[in-house]
Amino acid sequence: MVRDPVCRMEVDPAKTAYSEEGSEFGREGLTYYFCSPMCRSMFLENPRKYLEAGGGVPMGEVNLRVRRMWGMALALVLALMLVGVFLVSRSR
Ligand SMILES: [Zn+2]
Repeated sequence: MVRDPVCRMEVDPAKTAYSEEGSEFGREGLTYYFCSPMCRSMFLENPRKYLEAGGGVPMGEVNLRVRRMWGMALALVLALMLVGVFLVSRSR
């Protein structure tokens, strides 16, 4: 979970559709996430005001989370394949 820099609400980067790259505002490697299009447009109107207050997540941190999610998905697919092979070999 990360904080919306505008309203300070907790936002799940995997679920929200509203984000901005920090590089647009001189914050290389950071991504800002927002709970709603309203917070996003408020941020874009005056990014400096909210940037001073912090917020934003290093990109690597999110990538790591995404990678972990993919690892879990892959493990699930492999498990399903094993079950499938097991069922097929039993039905013969
Ligand atoms: Zn918000």
